[in-house]
Parts: sequence; structure tokens; C-alpha cells
Amino acid sequence: MGSLDDWSPASWHSKPIKQVVEYEDQNALSSALTKLSGLPPIVTPTEIVKLKSSLRDAALGKSFLLQGGDCAELFSYCADDPIDAKIKLLLQMSLVLIWGSNKPVIRIGRMAGQYAKPRSSPTEILDGKEIPSFRGDILNGFDPAHRTVDPERLVTAYFHSATTLNYIRSQLASGIADLHNPLDWGLGHVRDQELQTKYSQIVHSISDSLRFMRTIGADTAGQLQTVDLYTSHEGLVLEYEQSLTRRLRHPAGYNSSSPSPDGKGWYNTSAHFIWIGDRTRQIDGGHVEYFRGIENPIGIKVGPSMKSDELIELLDIVNPSKEIGKVTLITRYGKDKVESMLGSHIEAVKSSGHIVVWQCDPMHGNTHSTPAGIKTRSFNSILSELSSALEIHKKHGSFLGGMHLELTGDAVTECTGGSEGLNEDDLGLNYTTYCDPRLNEKQALELAFLVAGHYRE
Ligand code: PEP
Ligand code: MN
Repeated sequence: MGSLDDWSPASWHSKPIKQVVEYEDQNALSSALTKLSGLPPIVTPTEIVKLKSSLRDAALGKSFLLQGGDCAELFSYCADDPIDAKIKLLLQMSLVLIWGSNKPVIRIGRMAGQYAKPRSSPTEILDGKEIPSFRGDILNGFDPAHRTVDPERLVTAYFHSATTLNYIRSQLASGIADLHNPLDWGLGHVRDQELQTKYSQIVHSISDSLRFMRTIGADTAGQLQTVDLYTSHEGLVLEYEQSLTRRLRHPAGYNSSSPSPDGKGWYNTSAHFIWIGDRTRQIDGGHVEYFRGIENPIGIKVGPSMKSDELIELLDIVNPSKEIGKVTLITRYGKDKVESMLGSHIEAVKSSGHIVVWQCDPMHGNTHSTPAGIKTRSFNSILSELSSALEIHKKHGSFLGGMHLELTGDAVTECTGGSEGLNEDDLGLNYTTYCDPRLNEKQALELAFLVAGHYRE
């Protein structure tokens, strides 16, 4: 353990993997991968290392990580309106969280590459017929006629990812996140008078602070003109990740934990941050093997079946030098299990000497189906897991370093609850997700208000 001598971007092939993809057309696969290997990086080592250094702050309690976006990003979301809506939502949520926690907020979108989905079953029954499950736009199409895996989609994923990030970068450079401009907070839907007052006060407080900073000219370096927004996805389809893994020069001043005489390292250039899903985190599996070799900051989903000793073993494998902030543990136990599991994981990690970013994903352990068979999540359950995580960390002398949400900037009706008072009968109004139910923009912003409130109490 610990040495990268036996690692290469392809070494995962020698290990067993879950969520295997069967490519029928091997020639098409090999030409897609050849094409990908020659395309330029989507993100650069300088950006990757900058994010890793910010995450070090989150691990040490000096900043907070907000990560959010779709469960399954579709190629068709690569359009100006949905991207704009998501950038604005993440920006507003981050302002609220900065106000609440008094800490800088790091923003990472589940965007520009979140095209692959792990599935509990490789097939599903549709109108009495067994067909392959939808595995995300990077492999097959949601339309039942397009369920055969098509390797050409790996290349299409690259171009949608690059185009999405290009648009995000252009919008940020053009002032979409310019805090000199007033933001539309749209709180009209909050019917509860007490909550309406509470949220309005927070908005006033944020607006006042921004006005004050502008007035005294506290924007000399232009910090109010734009923000950083990083990209992330689940590193599930390893053929794709491998093709975009490049040996590149380290940025000046960066000390890699696996230094090499040529001053270079292996960077996954498909996104700034990638994570290992809860279904593919086997110690001896291909995904862990791939992840242990890259310089990027990485996430590991931690579900209720994770044993403490397994968690430590995993950390030792992917981060033998115990680099602070290299790993974000994305806990997703469910509101009824968080109490019995999080504390022992915190203690185990503490005694191992690893210092991680503890991020709560209150979505994936809190999914259920309505009697009508619609997959949904309740706002209260999501808030409950988040609140418990905040409390449990405090009780153990730790702190919550971030939150990981499935959200969209659009007015969908996929999760119940929140100030709009959506109930299960409303889910059909605008239920458009192709995988898990997402918070809509009002629910997501409200969650940020409530988490911010926790810090201020
Ligand atoms: C996801 O984040 O969409 C996901 C599949 O999560 P998990 O691996 O935690 O189940
Ligand atoms: Mn999901």
C-alpha cells in the first residue's frame, strides 16, 4: 500500500468492478477512446490544485463546501437557461451559507459531466418487456429505443461537458455572479409569516453587507465581480475517466504527495472533483484502484453499510500520505440511521489521523416511493439528516464541512414539503427528473436558509 509504482491510468482493468458496462461493439469503443485520448483537458492542474487547497480549508473548519446539481445530468441540459438557473441558485445558496457560517463557501456543481448513473438492476420491465436500464446519457438513452450502450456517447459526453463548462466560464467572466447587481430572491411563495420575516431579514442583511462593501470600496481586487465554480461527477465509467487522465506538469508551488523527478503527475482532466459512488467503493475493486492514482481531490460516498475499519482502509489506500482535504467523505445514511452511524465513523477517522472534509448528502438515504409508485424525498427528512449531522459533529468535537444536494434551478415538483407546501398529489405537476428527485430552486434556497440559521442560533 502507498506506492504508485504499480499504478497506471489503466491498472483498474486488473481488478473486479461493479456496474460493468458491456460494450457490444469493441471497434467502436476503441475508436471512441482513441478520440478521447487526443482531446484537450477540460480542466487544468492549476484549477484542480486550487480546489484541493480550498478543500484543505474546509477540512480544517475554515470554509464550507456547497456541492449540488442534477442526479442525472442529460445532454439536453446543456443549454443556456438551465445552466444559468443552476449557477444563480448555487450563488444565492452560497451567500446565505456565508452569512450563516461566517466562512467562505466553496461551490462545486454536479455539472458538466454528471452523465453516468449506477443502477440497482441492469434491466427493467417496461410494458411487460425486459429492457436494459437507463445508465445515463454517457452510455445509453432514456428513450426505450436507445437503451443499447453506444460507445460514441463517450465522445458526445466529452463535448457536452466541455460546452457546459465553457458556458459557465463565460457567464462568470461576463458578470452573472457580479454582486454589484441586485439578486432576485423570489420569496413570495413563503406563506408562513414567521418564516417569510426570517428569510427576508437574512436577505436584507446580505444585501446591506454587499452595499456597505461597495460603498467603502472594499472591492479593490474585483472579488465582488465573480466567484469560483468547480465541476464534479461520479467517476463511474472508468474507460472515460482513464482516457482523460493525463500526465501533466504540477503547478508552481504545489507539493504533490507522490513527487516524481519529472515534476509531473496524473490528473483527471474531465472535472475538478470526482467521487466514488456507494455502489462501487469496494476496497479491492477497480474504482478504488483508479482513484488512488490521481492528483485530484476526490469524494467517497459513505452509506449505511460502511464499516468503520473498511472506511479507514479505504482512506489509507486512496490517501496514504494523509494529505488534508484530499478526501471528502460524503455521508448518506438516511435520517433514521445517521444517529447510530456518523458518530462512530467520526471517531474512527479521528483516531486514524486522517483529516477529511465531512460532507452530508441528505438526499440518497431518504428516498421513498409514494403509493402511486413515484420516487420522492421529503424536505423534512432531508433537513432532519442535515440537522442531525450538524449536531453529531458538534457532539464529537468535529464539524460539518459541507453539504451535497441534488437540485435544479427549475420549478420542478419532485420532492415534497418546503414553504410551497408541495404534497404527494402535486408531484405530477412538473416531475421531470430522469433519475432521483431533486430539490427545486425554492426548496434548495430554503434549505440554505435553515442550515444558515443553525449556525446563527
Ligand atoms: C448519486 O449521487 O446520484 C448516487 C448514485 O449516490 P450514491 O452513490 O450515494 O447512492
Ligand atoms: Mn442520485
